[in-house]
Amino acid sequence: MRLIRLRRKIEKPRFRDELKLIPKWLVWTLAFLYVVAVVLAIVINLYQDGGQSIQPSQLRGNPALASLAMAGIVTGVAVVLSVWLMALGYVYRDAKRRDMNPVLWTLLCMLLSWPFFAIGFILYFQVREPLPYPCPRCSTLVGARFNFCPNCKCNLHPSCPNCKREVAETDKFCPYCAQDLTAKQEAGSLVARSTE
Ligand SMILES: [Zn+2]
Ligand SMILES: [Zn+2]
Repeated sequence: MRLIRLRRKIEKPRFRDELKLIPKWLVWTLAFLYVVAVVLAIVINLYQDGGQSIQPSQLRGNPALASLAMAGIVTGVAVVLSVWLMALGYVYRDAKRRDMNPVLWTLLCMLLSWPFFAIGFILYFQVREPLPYPCPRCSTLVGARFNFCPNCKCNLHPSCPNCKREVAETDKFCPYCAQDLTAKQEAGSLVARSTE
């Protein structure tokens, strides 16, 4: 569990990179729908105004203001909806690359959004699996819960040579018995060899 948490911390997700995960088609569809919605709202608004007042020239100042207000309302609704939909798109793609069930998580986030606002997303970010990472020896992508690299049999969960408890590659000393782990490479291969 400690290793899983460490892996997640190592990821250091950069916001810009994470944004790239949002499906492009979704962003373009939302942008297109937004333009359509603004145009429709303004046209309907103007049409209604025109219908109500028999002399449209009298109310020339008003429709422009009304159109602006209409566009503002549409923009506000569109921003909220778009952020929500793009967050769902992100969860789907992110769950997929982390070997979690993407449909289940997207649905969960979606359903929890109405009664509990963003709790589904918060839950997702708390429990999501760490990303696959390259094997330290052969740099094949390995799952965060793998014990050994499927390609080169490298021990991915090195243990302390003294107390045999699990340590992380970044540890200089064993967190349980203070064993010096700076000669860790040898220790790792020792453990790997003994399990062969
Ligand atoms: Zn490997
Ligand atoms: Zn130890």
